[in-house]
Amino acid sequence: MSVITRIDITHHQLPLDPAFPASWDPQPRTKFPATIVRVHDDEGRQGIGSGDAMYGFADYQRYFIGQDPLDLERHATVLANIEFHAGRPWPMDVALWDLAGKIRDEPIWKMVGGRGNRIRAYASSGVHRPVAEMVEVARRTIALGFPALKVRFGRPSIEVDLAVIKAVRDAVGDQLELMVDCNQGWRMPWDTQHPWTVDHATDVARQLHTENVYWMEEPLHRGDYDGMTELRKRVGIRIAGGELTREPYEFRELLDRECFDVFQPDCVCAMGISGLRKLATEVARAGKIFTPHTWGNGIGVMANLHLTAGTVGAPFVEFPFDPPEWSTARRDYILRDTIEADGDGWITLSDRPGLGVELDEGVLSATLTGRATFA
Ligand SMILES: [Mg+2]
Repeated sequence: MSVITRIDITHHQLPLDPAFPASWDPQPRTKFPATIVRVHDDEGRQGIGSGDAMYGFADYQRYFIGQDPLDLERHATVLANIEFHAGRPWPMDVALWDLAGKIRDEPIWKMVGGRGNRIRAYASSGVHRPVAEMVEVARRTIALGFPALKVRFGRPSIEVDLAVIKAVRDAVGDQLELMVDCNQGWRMPWDTQHPWTVDHATDVARQLHTENVYWMEEPLHRGDYDGMTELRKRVGIRIAGGELTREPYEFRELLDRECFDVFQPDCVCAMGISGLRKLATEVARAGKIFTPHTWGNGIGVMANLHLTAGTVGAPFVEFPFDPPEWSTARRDYILRDTIEADGDGWITLSDRPGLGVELDEGVLSATLTGRATFA
């Protein structure tokens, strides 16, 4: 048995010029932060994770030093306890799975269930472009082979948002599935806008249903369980959410109360691979879709691809992609190789151990900083 000897946490920022005007953030982003977690064992191996800033985690590292890296259930329980007291420590869980994969010489998709190593990606856009440009984005998405495109709402007027969806649907017909993210579940710290009401969400949902939209994401605040149950009774469109919901009991409530058709927890933000591999099974058993949020850097994308492909699969999984502001080169700058879909939108996971990715140490040295902020 090897033991955990050290945990290193470093912050990095990629300067963004031009800036990235993320649709869910009122402040254009001039930096893309990434916090890298490295877990070392006494036989010279290293597991990596990323996804949260991990502020305050230094105080808890001693609960892992000297432990068997393969005791993943124990570590996940300790991480859930730490989450209750401070932050979202789940990049540590991903780093432990990566390390465990390297010890066992197995890829994570096999370790979590081995269901498969291929999954189809949907292009997840992130910029509020005008109508004509969004039509071009949709055409490009089809040309690249993606089966689906997620469009962001939240422009100053809902009429313009709806005009975008109508124009895109008119232009592409049934060549592309469309999803709409309303981003009402949570806010950036400085954003004080109120979430939508059930009646407003119902009006929007009915119009999206007319345009044959595959799912409507985060139409209400994440805690508005009554609202989501009511909305699902009123409308026929699939409702998606739960991307930053934290706790297993919250997901159980969301399942029991029929709040969602599509569950989107992200293993670098909540419950880790250890917790979500079980939740994925519960979601699938209830006849719902499990397809994680992956917006972040390439380590998070890869961790969620392994988790989903290896457990229950999904019709498609989120692939953050909206060039030029959000290219795979920017998204995956911490990695030696960018993660790409093939010409039909499929991503094939390798048999390399763990996550199967390598850090770009040169880029990490050049982008080293003391903070994990977006500006
Ligand atoms: Mg979302």
